Amino acid sequence: MTERHEPKHEAPRETARAEKASNEKASKSGGLLPGILKGLATTAKTATQRTHTHEYPDVAPDLPPRSRGVIALLEENCTSCMLCARECPDWCIYIDSHKETIPATTEGGRDRQRNVLDRFAIDFSLCMYCGICIEVCPFDALFWSPQFEYAETDIRDLLHEKDRLGGWMETVPPPPALDERAAEPAEVTAANKPPRAARAPREPGAARETRAPREPRTPREPRAPRERPT
Ligand code: SF4
Ligand code: SF4
Repeated sequence: MTERHEPKHEAPRETARAEKASNEKASKSGGLLPGILKGLATTAKTATQRTHTHEYPDVAPDLPPRSRGVIALLEENCTSCMLCARECPDWCIYIDSHKETIPATTEGGRDRQRNVLDRFAIDFSLCMYCGICIEVCPFDALFWSPQFEYAETDIRDLLHEKDRLGGWMETVPPPPALDERAAEPAEVTAANKPPRAARAPREPGAARETRAPREPRTPREPRAPRERPT
């Protein structure tokens, strides 16, 4: 083992050197006073400006309405299609469901089957807030909520079940108004279309209307053979 010998007078020498450099710099710029005045001017200027910080948690932050705080679930819309769970890059959505038979409502009709959601959970300790699950859901069952106050002291408590996810639906802001100049949605156009005029029923035994036979096509003139370049 080698012992390290440090010179005893190294630290005072360093301090003296730094002081000398500082004095030289101050003398070059005309002394300490201009620097102090400049600092005071900056302080006075910024003191009158509006602050961009809030004293959270006493003052709630003013978040944009479409902030990605937490994912809310509208359970009635979920069909347990598993699309969100399959597309999630972190595999942090857990869904359990079972099939239920709904008896036919009309005589001779067929029974129907539907999925019943047993479990829908998101592990927010894994979620990276990419929003893919919300984008791919074909039944509008998932929404962004700006709610962000759900920090936990134990990471395991960040696995949120469907009751908690459903509770956040209250905090989901309404969708923004449609653009006035946007084209009318195809569904609205189809709904506003006037119904087709009903055809008059055919007389029993009446012959079908026959189309007039087409004129036979006149045959084309044969093309003249091309002349070969000599
Ligand atoms: S936001 Fe992204 S990572 Fe989080 S649950 Fe949805 S798909 Fe998965
Ligand atoms: S939330 Fe949407 S995508 Fe996910 S299982 Fe339910 S219906 Fe399917």
